[in-house]
Amino acid sequence: PAPVICIDGPTASGKGTIAAIVAERLGYHLLDSGSLYRITGLAASRAGIELTEANAQAIADLVSSKVITFLPDQQVLLDGDDISLDIRTEQAGMNASQVATFPAVRQALLQVQRNFCRLPGLVGDGRDMGTTIFPDAPLKVYLTASVQCRAERRYKQLISKGLSANMADLIADLEARDARDINRAASPLKPAQDALHWDNSDSTIDEAVQQVLTWWEQ
Ligand code: C5P
Repeated sequence: PAPVICIDGPTASGKGTIAAIVAERLGYHLLDSGSLYRITGLAASRAGIELTEANAQAIADLVSSKVITFLPDQQVLLDGDDISLDIRTEQAGMNASQVATFPAVRQALLQVQRNFCRLPGLVGDGRDMGTTIFPDAPLKVYLTASVQCRAERRYKQLISKGLSANMADLIADLEARDARDINRAASPLKPAQDALHWDNSDSTIDEAVQQVLTWWEQ
């Protein structure tokens, strides 16, 4: 089987950026697992399905019936429709964190995520790569950063995409999403027992990437 590097951590800890660069350096495939929950939330909203526990199975069935296409440069198609920007809004993130609490949705996305594991290897970023999706992965990294750093990072990301952002709202959103991710029953956000920890508050992207690559070579 292909080797997997898991990079888990809270919202806007820098996982996505670091995972993408590590994957590129190693020539590995990339799984941005958060995008699957964002796509699920978006598909349900567009179908007029309320994001409630009572609709969890309907939402899981809906996403299973969709054709999701990942193209280079973070481009994502849903049944052929370009939704790359739509899934990056704060609202899409909040909706994602809502549907991510539903066990039926997590179950529907389980095999989808495992199918990304192909030679020569995979870098997967998310919340439960190391605990649930790839429990046998040889390298699991748990990335943290202060709320202030994460909010600033998210702010820059949104502005650079031409989306609107406000620091106070971003901090409130981050804290709400952290709480939901940590407290949910199904695959809650927590480091795998064998995860290596990295605090990304004061490090540059390069330093974090280098650390992951060093761990990988060991
Ligand atoms: O990482 P990103 O912000 O794109 O993820 C969106 C939401 O999807 C997160 O807030 C989290 O609730 C959920 N998620 C998850 N498990 C993953 C990845 C994301 O529950 N592996």
